[in-house]
Parts: sequence; C-alpha cells; structure tokens
Amino acid sequence: MDHLKRLFDNNLVWAENIKQNKPNFFSDLSKQQSPDYLWIGCSDSRVVSEQLVGLQPGELFVHRNIANVVVPTDLNCLSVIQFAVEILKVKHIIVCGHYGCGGVKASMESVEHGLIDNWLCHIKSVHQQNEDELLAIKGETKRLDRLCELNVIEQVKNICHTTVVQRAWRNRKELSVHGCIYTLETGILKNLNVRFSEIHHMNDIFQLKEAKRDVYKPNITIMKTDYEGR
Ligand code: ZN
Repeated sequence: MDHLKRLFDNNLVWAENIKQNKPNFFSDLSKQQSPDYLWIGCSDSRVVSEQLVGLQPGELFVHRNIANVVVPTDLNCLSVIQFAVEILKVKHIIVCGHYGCGGVKASMESVEHGLIDNWLCHIKSVHQQNEDELLAIKGETKRLDRLCELNVIEQVKNICHTTVVQRAWRNRKELSVHGCIYTLETGILKNLNVRFSEIHHMNDIFQLKEAKRDVYKPNITIMKTDYEGR
C-alpha cells in the first residue's frame, strides 16, 4: 500500500487547478522569487503560513521550527535571515506564534522530554524573565497563552539583535520586524503591535556600530643577515 499516494494525487489536482486559472504561473515562478516577507513560525502542522495570510507561492519566504524560536547561534535560522534580507531583500520579517503552542507548554513543565528540552531552554529563559507577570495570571491556559505572546516578542528582539538586521539598518535599508500570534480555534491572526524598524529602537548594548578597521600595512624591514656580503 502506497501511503503517499494521496499526496501525489492531491499534487496533480493542485497543479492542474492552478494551471487552469493561470497558465504561466509555474513557468513564471520557476524563473525567480521576490517575496516581500520572511515568516518565522512554529512547525505546528495547524499553522499554515501562506494560507492563513492568503499569499501565493513565491510571496512568503518561510522558516519554521518548534515554538518559533530565534537563537543567535542557530546557523540554520541565521542563514535564512541573511538570505532573506541581503539577497531576496525582504522588507518585513514576521515572527508568528500561536496560542496553545505545544513547545511553549512543554517549556513550562518540569518533566524531561528528551533532546528538545535543550531547545525549550530558550523559552524557559523568557518565562524566568517574566515570572512576576506570569505568576500573577490565574489559570494555566491564560498563563500559557501569555507566555506564547511573550515568546514572540522576545524572538522579535532576537532578530533585531542579529548582525544581519543591524547591518541592514545601518545601511538604511527598509526593514521592519513584527510579531503576531495565531488563534487555532478561530483562524484569526492578531498583531501584537511589536514592531522595530531602525537601530535606535534597540537598547544601547544591542546597537552595533561598524568597527573601524585600519588597512593592514605590514611593517616590512629588510634585515641584513649574516650571509650578506659573504
Ligand atoms: Zn507551536
């Protein structure tokens, strides 16, 4: 039994439908992509990035991982951000979380989940930083949902702190970083109204200035050796 047959059958129907409506769609798209947006979202199968914002293939550059975390040592995510900003020249980076996120929920627990606990440590840090606010919230679900929002806000800041985004802003490139959150039960995307678009929006410690590098001029002195003149 071919477990993937349904997927291949669906693919043929999907491609055919698009070709019927836009005969040149795939040939045009195969030549280039020029999305205006980079989307960093959760891997959760229910949060379907392009569909929920009504965009077509080619309009959204996407990176997804568990609980939409941006870690400054994650080469995968950093490479996506660099390619999106410097090559594709996207104008907006959107971090999209979702309420009831399983990754965020697991980060609130004190039981071992395996390797993923190392990843979830980043969210535990967000929890720790906002402990007073979170502990004041009554009800586990509401507390989880607030941590989902705080996690998005923190990841937006992490993106702004990357050398890629800082360099873009120093060079006066048009680039905004936004945070939003999705509700699985309603399909509605909510703007968290966190938006940064220039380097001065950052705390001083995170405003990287271009280093002044002296042109390397080696000081070469020709030494006389004992062999000379012999
Ligand atoms: Zn999630």
